[in-house]
Amino acid sequence: MELDDLYQEIILDHSRKPRNYKPLSDGDVLVDEENPTCGDHIRLSVTVKDGVIEAVTFDGRGCAISTASSSLMTESVVGKTVGEARQLAGDCVAMLRGEKDPDPDRFGDLMALAGVKEFPLRVKCATLGWHALLNALNTLGV
Ligand code: ZN
Repeated sequence: MELDDLYQEIILDHSRKPRNYKPLSDGDVLVDEENPTCGDHIRLSVTVKDGVIEAVTFDGRGCAISTASSSLMTESVVGKTVGEARQLAGDCVAMLRGEKDPDPDRFGDLMALAGVKEFPLRVKCATLGWHALLNALNTLGV
């Protein structure tokens, strides 16, 4: 299997079966974000304990790229410290915008999103979940 095919499989899998996706009650929602250019909408709940991200769940509706990117985001930050998650979010947004090359060892499945930079109209779809995460951490004051 070619690497590109593998990456495409990961995107498809996460868009069809998003991880940590479940309807949130309004009280759990920390951030509510939209990408009007595409119509993507995400709501995020984040639980932090002792400086470590314990859980990230999301709901809303979005295109395949926004859903897959948000799903991959939740998987990649749970268990990390807030500092590590912020760093990863910054690096991932930079990768999506084509500003910085990712470290494949550190990025793992997130490498599947590396091709997004070739599609300028999709960049905001893919960064939506990451911005939502950073805003949620700001809202929590961590
Ligand atoms: Zn989109």
